[in-house]
Amino acid sequence: MGIIKINRGYNQKLHHFIKGEFQLIKKSWALAVIILIFLCILFISRLKLQVNYLSASENASSCNNMPILQAIYSDQFIIYSPYSEEDFRFKGQIHCHTQASDGNNTPQEIMEAYRSLEYQFVAITDHDLVTKDPGVPGILFISGVEESSSSGHILGIGVKSQTDETHPDKVIDYIQEKGIAIYAHPNRWSFSNGWSLKELLSAPEAWGIEVINAKRWRTNAENKWDALLTRGYQIWGTAGDDCHSITQDINQAWIVVATPHLSEDNIITALRNGNFYSTEGPDLSVRVYPDRIIARTNAEATIEWITKGGTKSKVTSGVTEDSYFIKGDEGYIRVAIIRDEDQKKALGQPVFIER
Ligand SMILES: [Zn+2]
Ligand SMILES: [Zn+2]
Repeated sequence: MGIIKINRGYNQKLHHFIKGEFQLIKKSWALAVIILIFLCILFISRLKLQVNYLSASENASSCNNMPILQAIYSDQFIIYSPYSEEDFRFKGQIHCHTQASDGNNTPQEIMEAYRSLEYQFVAITDHDLVTKDPGVPGILFISGVEESSSSGHILGIGVKSQTDETHPDKVIDYIQEKGIAIYAHPNRWSFSNGWSLKELLSAPEAWGIEVINAKRWRTNAENKWDALLTRGYQIWGTAGDDCHSITQDINQAWIVVATPHLSEDNIITALRNGNFYSTEGPDLSVRVYPDRIIARTNAEATIEWITKGGTKSKVTSGVTEDSYFIKGDEGYIRVAIIRDEDQKKALGQPVFIER
């Protein structure tokens, strides 16, 4: 009997042990399945971030809407440059939302907040809706929209009405009849309205790509910009707050425009022709000569010169000025400033080199 009791006790212990283990295994499996699903989502999303560069010989671009660029001739090559003698001076915001879509503030509050931060113009870009000018004095209002296409979000700057179209071809064509279309936050996750490179390449060429989006994960999309530039696109890199709240996400990323006078037409023309730079803080001035490009900024920084394939052809640290001597085979050359003090970036527009 004693043995039986011991066995029974043992069996009960064994039973509890097996039951406990089984529960543990069940929990572990559930955990493993959750992790697997998460990894799958992550993998699918990361696919959108992968970028393939092409060599210049594989250029696939055919630009319909060419920007007006200054041609600078040397013996061996021609430089097409968006830089002029005009200084960059008008600070503007081209990506922000109000209560008319999913923002926290009224259009009036948005315009006043940016005016207090010394912005000279703001394009309000509510989701699928062109918000009316609230008439705030002392700051230029530019009408805009952020359209939801079946690929990713598209900013439309200078458009007077929204469209019901959702196919990216139709949306971009609609916007670019009068305004500027910009692929918004391309490196956001696929479920958060970003753009894969494949989607970018199959859409019509927009005038701009939002390379700095300050909202949430501060997505930088220089890799996709370089992928398009390497394929021969003449496309400008923009920056924006994607502001949804003036107490949380304002004045993180903006553009500075070179144009003689502040007006909506002048800003739209400057955006079309690449007469601006994009920044999270550092300032930038660029001069282009037949043999070299000189970039200057106001605080010590690393200055990177980036050419086709996203190659960092020259990097100089701890300087406020740097020169890049043109060889002729770069395809395009653009400059990036990374300020030493806080690692914030400013991005110049590309110049294009043709032999
Ligand atoms: Zn968006
Ligand atoms: Zn937005």
